[in-house]
Amino acid sequence: MDRAMWWTAQIAQVRDEIKGACRRAGRAADEVRLVGVTKTLAPEAVVDLIRTGLRDVGENRWQQARPKLAQPGADTLTWHFIGHLQSNKVRPVVRHFDWIHSVDSEALGRLISDEAVRQERTIHVLVQVNIAREPQKSGVAPEQTRPLLETLAACPGLRLEGLMTMAPAASNPEDVRWVFRALRELRDEMERQTGIPLPELSMGMSGDFVPAVEEGATMVRIGRRLFPPMPGEDDVVS
Ligand SMILES: *Cc1c(COP(=O)(O)O)cnc(C)c1O
Repeated sequence: MDRAMWWTAQIAQVRDEIKGACRRAGRAADEVRLVGVTKTLAPEAVVDLIRTGLRDVGENRWQQARPKLAQPGADTLTWHFIGHLQSNKVRPVVRHFDWIHSVDSEALGRLISDEAVRQERTIHVLVQVNIAREPQKSGVAPEQTRPLLETLAACPGLRLEGLMTMAPAASNPEDVRWVFRALRELRDEMERQTGIPLPELSMGMSGDFVPAVEEGATMVRIGRRLFPPMPGEDDVVS
């Protein structure tokens, strides 16, 4: 079996679990976009990745994304920036990525917008919220969300799509269900207060995407479950 086939099987399995979670929640499975997080993969893996048919890929650091973006066919994929974005990386990220899930300040949002306008692009953005208030995590506190949303909604280079969060690490995903529910409730409350449509909820990773989808995720960001090493291959692919 080659690597693309191996990954294709994992992708099918995860899609199946997403479908099950949707069914339990009374949702349509096509409401959930599967973003494959490729940060642990070597640049050459992009060719195999394209063969799996997966179309949305996520990277959390510009330095790791850069060599992958130069691979043949990389521009046929939709790239999602999901990590903390430093201001000096805004220009290349705006050039290559369609989505930025991790906007957490007005200053960063304005920089992205200005650069997008310069490049005649529109970037889809999400506000990252630190629901669990973990000191080591990025994201705004829930009570800071409204002013940031109002600023971003007025930025000409941005299309504000919704909210993103990362749950704390948990061995039992049920322990972090409350985080996903809280993000959905915050979204509902923000839509009511501001009138800004916020259709997208980016939440759920390898260990916790099932409760995230049951609570309303429209985008899940999954790495380890989709791209495990081949049987017999070293644990670290890159
Ligand atoms: C790495 C990463 C993921 C995927 O994590 P897995 O546990 O490998 O599924 C999702 N979101 C962000 C922001 C990440 O950095």
